[in-house]
Amino acid sequence: MIIILFGPPGAGKGTQAQIIEKKNGLLQLSTGDMLRKAVASGTHYGKRAEDKMTAGELVSDDIVIGIIADRIKEKDCSNGFILDGFPRTVAQAEALDVMLVEEGVSLDAVIQMEVDDAALVGRIAGRYTCAGCNQGYHDTDVKPKTEGVCDCCGGTEFKRRADDNAETVGKRLKEYYAQTAPVLPYYAEKGVLQQVDGMASVEEVAAQIAVILAA
Ligand code: AMP
Repeated sequence: MIIILFGPPGAGKGTQAQIIEKKNGLLQLSTGDMLRKAVASGTHYGKRAEDKMTAGELVSDDIVIGIIADRIKEKDCSNGFILDGFPRTVAQAEALDVMLVEEGVSLDAVIQMEVDDAALVGRIAGRYTCAGCNQGYHDTDVKPKTEGVCDCCGGTEFKRRADDNAETVGKRLKEYYAQTAPVLPYYAEKGVLQQVDGMASVEEVAAQIAVILAA
C-alpha cells in the first residue's frame, strides 16, 4: 500500500505517519527527516538544502525527487510506504507518478489533513521529538506518559527543530499555499484524494485514516 499524507506544516502528518507505520507495517518516508539527516552528516544534498530549510523555503525539486527515487527502490519499501512531506510541488507529483510506474506499483490514497492556519503556529512551536527514536511529542498536547522519558524507547534526550519558530513557520505556510496546495487538484482529478479533519484529536484522526485505509 502506498499513501501520501498531505497538509501544511503542523497538520500532524508525521504523528499520523508514525501511527500508520506501527499499525499497518508501512514505512514512513519523510523528506524533511531525510533532508535533516543529510544536513547533519554534511552530504552533498545536505549542503545544497541547508540554507533553503533554514529560511523555510522549499528545497529544489531535483534534490527531493532524487532522494525519494533512490529510497523507494530499497528492499524495506517493498511492503509499502507512507509519504510524509512529499510531493510538495506539481513537478514532484509528476515525477512520483513516473517512479511508481517504474517500480510497478500504484498510489492507494492521498489523505489531506485539513487544519485551521491559526492553530498551526501553536502546534509547531510546542513540538519536539525523541533524539533516539524520533517519536513526536508536544509541550501541551501529546506529552510522554512519564515526564522526560520517551514512551517508545525510554530515551531521555529530546530535540526541537531549528525551523520550528514563528518567523519561519509564516514562510513555510506561504510556500505551502503557493507551491504545495496546487498539487491537490492534481490528485483530485485522479480520484485518489480524501480528507480527514486534522483539527480532531490524534486518536480521532487516526481512526478516520484507518477507515480510509480499510476501504
Ligand atoms: P518538513 O519536515 O516536512 O516540515 O520539512 C522541513 C523542510 O525540508 C521544508 O521546510 C523544506 O525546506 C524541506 N522539504 C521537505 N520536504 C520537501 C519537499 N518534498 N520539497 C521541497 N522541500 C522539502
